[in-house]
Amino acid sequence: MLDIAGLNAQFEQEAPQDILAWAAETLADRFALVTSFQPSGLVLTHMLGQIAPHAPIITLDTGLLFPETYALMAQYEREYGITIQRVSPAQTVAEQAGTHGDALWARDPDACCGLRKVAPLRQALTGYEAWITGVRRDQSASRRNTPILAWDTRHNNLKLAPLAAWTEDMVWTYIHAYALPYNLLHDQGYASIGCQPCTRAVAPGEDKRAGRWSGQNKVECGIHLPEVTTPSDARTV
Ligand code: SF4
Repeated sequence: MLDIAGLNAQFEQEAPQDILAWAAETLADRFALVTSFQPSGLVLTHMLGQIAPHAPIITLDTGLLFPETYALMAQYEREYGITIQRVSPAQTVAEQAGTHGDALWARDPDACCGLRKVAPLRQALTGYEAWITGVRRDQSASRRNTPILAWDTRHNNLKLAPLAAWTEDMVWTYIHAYALPYNLLHDQGYASIGCQPCTRAVAPGEDKRAGRWSGQNKVECGIHLPEVTTPSDARTV
């Protein structure tokens, strides 16, 4: 059994590359990077390319991403020789409209994210002992206490956030230092970029994630939320 607390104390002193190297050494091919090709994900994709170039890279292709996001993914495959595993929901957008009505995201975004993100990721992570994410503490109040390593009760595996302690400035400094391609929407005021119907640009000074599910009582798609457990199925590590 891993000493998660001890490893976290160690990782807090280490660079993200050291943490990724630990993952590659400890977990071999039993982990995957999950990214939506936002700035933190770009940094991790680049770092992982140098440390564990064959590590799977998974993205949730909801069928509702911006054209700029699809173009960026294609550019990374072309220029960095990576293969992105695009995970699709069980239903196309049209099929979902047939089952649940048009624009479910406007009426029940939790249900829509559940169908198009949460369930597909659960399926995609089956068999993996760990997943890596670009979540950072400075992204929102709900992410402020993000540990670098945690047991993910939703997916029953380890969740590693090597950039948890990084700031947005550090991420962009890395992107510019290595001239990494990034989503052009960032230059148009889009701070956090998800699905097209649920993302808008933010005004200067506005919270970076205010453009996600704007006007809805929702701040997370659900993949980073812990599974709700009952005393009988809760587990400890
Ligand atoms: S972000 Fe919006 S469109 Fe995308 S899955 Fe969630 S609710 Fe649906």
